[in-house]
Amino acid sequence: MTQRKPLIAGNWKMNKTCAEAMDTARTLVSLVSDVKDVEVMITPPFTALAQVADIIASTPVELGAQDVFWEDHGAYTGQVSAPMLVSAGCTYVIIGHSERRQYFNETDQTVNKKVKAAFAGGLAPVVCVGETEADRDAQKTFSVLDKQMDNGLEGLTVEIMANAVIAYEPVWAIGTGKTATPLQVQEVHAFLRSFLKQRFGDGIAGQIRILYGGSVKPGNAAELMALADVDGALVGGASLDAEIFSKIVHFGKA
Ligand code: PEP
Repeated sequence: MTQRKPLIAGNWKMNKTCAEAMDTARTLVSLVSDVKDVEVMITPPFTALAQVADIIASTPVELGAQDVFWEDHGAYTGQVSAPMLVSAGCTYVIIGHSERRQYFNETDQTVNKKVKAAFAGGLAPVVCVGETEADRDAQKTFSVLDKQMDNGLEGLTVEIMANAVIAYEPVWAIGTGKTATPLQVQEVHAFLRSFLKQRFGDGIAGQIRILYGGSVKPGNAAELMALADVDGALVGGASLDAEIFSKIVHFGKA
């Protein structure tokens, strides 16, 4: 079986001034200095990326952004491109988070353009997919996920996909305190893995990490991370506090 190094990623969303972000990053670096078998990544807001990059330089903590635009430069007021994110120190970028789909008209088609731009710029995309509560109640979970994966990953080659990360985030579990049950999570992750196998072949599908996101906390991290097809977590609220996030990085054991 392929060994996939778990990735625990913190999505800070629209939180923290530059000073607060630097402070949290400093505390986190000291709290996770013992961690070897887990990759740790944080996504501060754009405004704090470069300063946080300085703090985590020469530490194992990695930097990601929360979004990217698909053009490299030009008259696109308010947008930030992949080369800009790389120049600020990012190696990852979250794409297609449900909040962007819900509030900022993100579609599977814009997700696809952004994923291609991320790869072209040298960033590893963390591609978010997930069903709403209404989808789940209507037994549409798998058809919704299939469509998001099919359109979002359209036109991508096997070679390039080796660096992709998928995040399964049931919309009904984000910021609600409701966590999907281990059975629900493993069922969906296995479905996503089999989608990747069919599309990109067993080898790459076995390498791609599939993260779970949705009210992950120190108390449920170990159980979720033990599931066969769960390769880490995308953590929102609980990543804002370095001590709580560090407990998740340690799978609730420290
Ligand atoms: C998220 O927004 O990606 C997320 C998983 O949030 P939370 O952990 O707060 O549910």
